[in-house]
Amino acid sequence: MQVGTGTSVLNRIAIGKIRIFKPKEYNISEETVADPIPELDRFEKARVKVQEEQRELYDKAVIAAGEETAAIFEFHADMLDDDDLLDSVKSIIVEQNHTAEYAVRQGFANMAQMFSDMDDPYFQARSADVLDVGNSMLDVLFGYDTKADDKDEPCILVAEDLAPSETVKLDKSLLLGMITREGSTNSHTAILARSMNVPALIQCKQIDESWDGKTAILDGYNACVYVDPTEDLLKSLKEKQAEDIRKESLLLDLKGKSNTTIDGKTIKVYANIGGPDDMGAVQANDAEGIGLFRSEFVYLNSPSDPSEETQFQAYKRVVETMAPKLVVIRTCDIGADKTIDYMKLAQEENPALGYRAVRICLTRKDFFKRQLRAILRASAFGNLAVMFPMITSVREVRECKEILNECRRELENEGVKIGKLQVGIMIETPAAVMCADELAEEVEFFSLGTNDLTQYTCAIDRQNAMLDPFMDTHHPAVLKEIQMTIEAGHRHGCWVGICGELGADLTLTETFLRMGVDELSVNASSVLPLRKQIRSIDLSK
Ligand code: PEP
Ligand code: MG
Repeated sequence: MQVGTGTSVLNRIAIGKIRIFKPKEYNISEETVADPIPELDRFEKARVKVQEEQRELYDKAVIAAGEETAAIFEFHADMLDDDDLLDSVKSIIVEQNHTAEYAVRQGFANMAQMFSDMDDPYFQARSADVLDVGNSMLDVLFGYDTKADDKDEPCILVAEDLAPSETVKLDKSLLLGMITREGSTNSHTAILARSMNVPALIQCKQIDESWDGKTAILDGYNACVYVDPTEDLLKSLKEKQAEDIRKESLLLDLKGKSNTTIDGKTIKVYANIGGPDDMGAVQANDAEGIGLFRSEFVYLNSPSDPSEETQFQAYKRVVETMAPKLVVIRTCDIGADKTIDYMKLAQEENPALGYRAVRICLTRKDFFKRQLRAILRASAFGNLAVMFPMITSVREVRECKEILNECRRELENEGVKIGKLQVGIMIETPAAVMCADELAEEVEFFSLGTNDLTQYTCAIDRQNAMLDPFMDTHHPAVLKEIQMTIEAGHRHGCWVGICGELGADLTLTETFLRMGVDELSVNASSVLPLRKQIRSIDLSK
């Protein structure tokens, strides 16, 4: 048995096989070739191989999940007979003398863009399939292992590091746990692990390629992983895992109950989500609303800049599912650790202090307007709020509201139905705390982003694992800022919530209630434990 240690992100146990995650790099040469014929031959061989693989996947999926689910693999296989696609790739090889790899990347990207430019959401979604098949072709051309075997078995994923854009694309149903050599506790990757309710071990320096395929226990309570565990250990941790599941099921009794303290104070408990796929967990855990829809994950999940229609469909799905409960959509908070290739953002020395969130939106107005129009259109389908992140001044809020109003006027002129839309901002910079009275005059609510507020107040880069020992999540300065924000908001009739990770910290629930917070927005799996905690508090004592 081997033991690896690190920092735990969630107190849970995962037992299963390890799979080493290696991001694939496709270093594609721009150089031309003298003779295109061998490249055509390589392309044809790769095409036949990928097509065979997709047909095999189809046969397997029909047995495992039925024809409807399997149809996607048939679509992938048929794509490799599409004359337009094949002609475009071949002409790049023959007429421009490029390699098969270059031609595949170019030809498939062109086709994907064509799909994502279409108005119909069904065809827009096919853009990701085209890129998927293109990558399978590149895997074959680069000689990467493409065997699909055991890719559909749930596993504990082991990686050097995982970017938010990689984490968000993982198939949650196949993920038992995550272990990384790098990573910090407050990074978005850690936040995503918590929101997926899977244990994660970060900063585990002992990870080793030889672990691939071995059975392991990820023990989130003790922040360690046991590879090839003994039978005794396996038995005792399986019992502990079963006990966790039993305790979680007891919490289900709290579904439908109110978030009211013993002495009668009620607050709202909402959930944080990254997209429509998280709605199952939100409903299973009986959240009273969505307090933070991190809309940038819709962008991170998309192969190209999502159109207004794609965004509208995503927002509408969430708003309709939750109606009449409130959904707060935070406008795109890209930048810092959340980078997207198609946004073509420059590398920065200090990205957390850099070009991110509203700073991008206010300087790329068309990009911002696409999102605001989609949000306004979705407002007709339920109870919606929009929230602007990384605000530091009244000027920024006014500019955001001006652009929102411009979109509203445009849609009204187009005869599009718009519902009521609350407007709020995130309070996640010390500047916003200090100007909270003035900011409250501009909006209907505040939501405290304690992850960034802690980083900016304590001058601690949340991405830097070396600083984890210096990070005091209960720093008195941050708690004081929360109190100041709640008081300023209430002075001007704003409701005030907390949507950072601190909202789920049960040791602070009573403190937040005494401060007068109106809402706590947490990961879906934290909703019922938080409800239990609130119901056990007596503020009259
Ligand atoms: C925060 O900063 O607390 C927050 C909720 O936003 P994010 O973690 O996505 O930056
Ligand atoms: Mg933030």
